[in-house]
Amino acid sequence: MKLNASPNNERLRSIFLELCRIPSPSGSEQSVAAYIRTRLSAAGVSVTEDGAGTALGGNCGNLYLRLEPSTEGSGEPLFLAAHMDTVPPDPQTGSPPGVESDPQSGTGSSGVPGEVPVLIDGDRVHTNGQSVLGGDDKLGIAAALELILSVTEDGNALPRSLDIAFTIQEERGAKGAACFDAGLFKAVLGYVLDGEGPVGSAITKAPTKYRYTIEVRGRRSHAAVDPDSGRNAVAAAGELASRLPCGRPSQSSTANVGSISGGGPSNIVPDTAQLVGEIRSFDSAEIETLQAQIQTLAAEVAARREVVVEVIWEHLYDAYNIEPDEPCLRMFADHCRSTGREPTLMSSLGGGDANALNAKGLRSIVYGLGMHNIHSRDEYALFSELEAATELLFQIVLSPQF
Ligand SMILES: [Zn+2]
Repeated sequence: MKLNASPNNERLRSIFLELCRIPSPSGSEQSVAAYIRTRLSAAGVSVTEDGAGTALGGNCGNLYLRLEPSTEGSGEPLFLAAHMDTVPPDPQTGSPPGVESDPQSGTGSSGVPGEVPVLIDGDRVHTNGQSVLGGDDKLGIAAALELILSVTEDGNALPRSLDIAFTIQEERGAKGAACFDAGLFKAVLGYVLDGEGPVGSAITKAPTKYRYTIEVRGRRSHAAVDPDSGRNAVAAAGELASRLPCGRPSQSSTANVGSISGGGPSNIVPDTAQLVGEIRSFDSAEIETLQAQIQTLAAEVAARREVVVEVIWEHLYDAYNIEPDEPCLRMFADHCRSTGREPTLMSSLGGGDANALNAKGLRSIVYGLGMHNIHSRDEYALFSELEAATELLFQIVLSPQF
């Protein structure tokens, strides 16, 4: 057994490139899952798939596996998570990567669009500008696979039990992680390998988010013949839009009205209109206050304008806040410092798998991997950052401390 192992950077690079070439938009993660299974079964590691794919209407579920300690070490069990899906290859149009491939006809029997055109320019990995690279989150998967192979193929000592999940549909609002059964893990603390920030950074705090749709139903009438019996849904929606919380209701919350629609020709008092908006807050009490405020406003406008106003809430994710003395963050910060990096702790205004996993009691921070221009066709990654992030991960997981 070897201690203080380092990643095999050649293998790490080739895994990363192979993963990036496989298209895996949300709901179509099967090919990436097959790659992970093949790579790990060659190393004698079996991988289990849960039922999340069926539940969510995708072609693949979440994958998970556990490595048992290979030494007497009694380190705290840890878990790692990385998501297998990417945003659509072309986030602007949702079309598949490559110039020739076509989502209907160019997919062949596997139903998977053509290879992502991955280009290498020295340290930099990018595409031909026709597709996202998918470094979000193939960087995380590559780091996790390299760690597993280092233990299983190279015989590096693992001083703790390690649970790993490769999740689906993160980009659709952490749906795969939300379906994941936390009881499958031995560990209750770990790292979500999905951070956009540089190596040595972590997201320790993210908000709760709700989306709302407000349906306004009035009464239709002719605007000239019978204006008095009409109840104008568009006017009611307009009043709501101007009075709904918007911008920064407090230091820890944001709110937005994103769209207003409805109505018809100029001579008809319109009977339907719709508003779509969202609220986010790091403080769950403030979320409740904002929700109550919106409901009260809806009821007030409904009563005064004699229309029906219905607010439909969609809960996307829950806030988390990892304190500096919590073990997953302490381990991360200590190992950053011992490798000469001052940890950078950040909050995020968006959510992801860490929101879903923390809500299940799996205390975790989002581990910085150095992603660049994610969710765009200009996305790129640097081998040097992938290697440094993986090296730090080895330090944390394979160190007998903690
Ligand atoms: Zn991601």
